[in-house]
Amino acid sequence: MSDAHAPRLFDSLSREVRTVAPADGKTLRLYCCGPTVYGPAHVGNLRTFLLQDVFRRVVELSGTPTLHVRNLTDVDDKTIRQSQAEGVPLSEFTARWTARMHADAGALNILPPHHEPGAVAHIPHQIQLIQRLVEARHAYVAQDGSVYFDVSSFPQYGRLSRLADRQITTGQHAPATETDREEADEYARDSAADFALWKARKPEDGPNFWPSPWGDGRPGWHIECSAMSIEYLGDTFDVHSGGVDLIFPHHENEIAQSEAATGCTFARHWFHIAHLMVEDRKMSKSLGNLFTLDDVRGRGFSPETLRYVLISGHYRQPLNFTWDSLAAARSALARIAKLDEALAAVAPDSGPRGCLSTTLLPLGDARHGMASFAPAWDALLDDLNTPAALGRLFTAAAEVESRIRSGELPPGQAGAERGALHRILFALGLRLVAEEPPAQAPENIRALAEARWNAKQSRDFKEADRLRAEIESRGWIVRDGKEGFELNRKFPQPNA
Ligand code: AMP
Ligand code: ZN
Repeated sequence: MSDAHAPRLFDSLSREVRTVAPADGKTLRLYCCGPTVYGPAHVGNLRTFLLQDVFRRVVELSGTPTLHVRNLTDVDDKTIRQSQAEGVPLSEFTARWTARMHADAGALNILPPHHEPGAVAHIPHQIQLIQRLVEARHAYVAQDGSVYFDVSSFPQYGRLSRLADRQITTGQHAPATETDREEADEYARDSAADFALWKARKPEDGPNFWPSPWGDGRPGWHIECSAMSIEYLGDTFDVHSGGVDLIFPHHENEIAQSEAATGCTFARHWFHIAHLMVEDRKMSKSLGNLFTLDDVRGRGFSPETLRYVLISGHYRQPLNFTWDSLAAARSALARIAKLDEALAAVAPDSGPRGCLSTTLLPLGDARHGMASFAPAWDALLDDLNTPAALGRLFTAAAEVESRIRSGELPPGQAGAERGALHRILFALGLRLVAEEPPAQAPENIRALAEARWNAKQSRDFKEADRLRAEIESRGWIVRDGKEGFELNRKFPQPNA
C-alpha cells in the first residue's frame, strides 16, 4: 500500500493530520479503551466504539490488517459499588454487562476486537508493571500499602493534554478541576498530581481484593490499559483511541507510566472522538437524556439507523443526537436500499437482493474497485470524514440512478457499481436490512397507561407510580410529553 492510499487521521499529540501506517509495515496495532461494565453502554459510548470500528474497517480495506485490542474495565469503584448494591459477586455482575455490551456491539455491526482483555484477569501483569515502576523510582509505596506514580519523575507529563497551557495547575502538575473517577476515593499521596497505581484494600471493597507485594488491594484504573496494551501489542503500538474525556487524566497517565517503565514511545498516534450531545445538552442521568440502544429500539428505530446517525458527524466535532436525526437516517438508509434493488435488477448476477455481498476486493485494491463511489472512499481516507463520505455516497447514488433510468448503465457496469456500493457500505459498517415497524402497545397496556395519566392529572401520584410499575412489569415503558404519554417497548435486561 502506498502512502497515497493510506488513511490519514488527526493525531491529538502532534495536533496534525498524519498518515497512519503500521510501524512494522505489516499490521496496524490498535488499542481502544473499552467499556466499564456496570450498566448498558449509552449512545455516547456507542458513538466512540462505532467511529473506532469505521476506522478499523477503512484501514483493513485500504490493505493493512489490524490487531485490535479493546479492554473491559471490570473492576473499579463503580463496578464494585453496583455489584454490592445488588448483592451479586463482582465477576457475575460484570459478566452480565459484558454480555450486554457484546449484544449491543453485535446489533450495531461493530467488529469484535481480536483481544478483549479484562482488568481482573490481568492483575499479575499490572502488578509486574507497578513493580518495574517502583524499582525505577517512578512510583512509591504509601503508608497504607497503596502505590502512587510520582509525576515529578516524568518531566514530559502533560504533553498530550497540554497541561502547561491550561494554567489551572495546583502543586506541580495537577489541574485544580481534576475529577478523575478513580481519584475520587483518595489516599495519602506526596503530591496532588500523583495518581494511584495500586489501591490498598478498603472495607467497602468487600471481597474484591488481591494480594500484591504491597499488601492486599486492587489496581488503579489507568494501569490496566498500560499493562494490557503492552501485553497484547508490545511496548510501542500504532494507534491508541478513546473519547475526548479520556485525554486527561487517563491517557496522560497511561503515557507516563508506560514510557517510564519501558523507555519507549507508548502509542505512535492518538485518536480521540468528540462527545455526543443530546438535543444540544450534555448527556447525563440527571437530565434524563441518557439513552441506550434499547431506548432507541423502543422508539421503533433499528440498530442500523442508530449506527447511521452516530457515524454521520465528523469524529472531531461533538455530535448532536436528536430523534429527528433518526427519522432522517431511516429515510437515507431506505434510499440506499432502493438503489441496491435497482442495481440488482439491472445486474441480476451481482448477488441476491437485500443483502450485501461479503466478497471484498483483495486488500490494497480498495480505491480501484470503488467505481462511482471513489470520492466517498477518498473522504474516509482523509481524516475519516464520515459526513463527507455519506454526502458523496448520495451524490454518486443520484448519478447512478439517473443512468439506470435513462438505460445508460449496462449490466456489467451496474454489477461493478453494486460491488462498489457494497464496499463503501462495508467500510461504514452499514447493513441493508428491513426496518422493524415500531411496536404498538396492546389495548390492556394502553388502558393502564391512560389510567396512570388520569391519576397523574388528578395528582394521585402514588397511584400513578403504582401503574407505571405495573406497566413496566409487563414490558412497556411510559414517558410523558407535553401532549400526553408515549409507550415504548422495554427490552429485557440480560439474565433478567
Ligand atoms: P466508559 O464505559 O465510561 O469507560 O466509556 C467508554 C468509552 O466511551 C470511552 O472511550 C469514553 O471516552 C467514551 N464516551 C463516554 N461518554 C461519551 C460521550 N458522551 N460521547 C462519546 N463518547 C463517550
Ligand atoms: Zn484506557
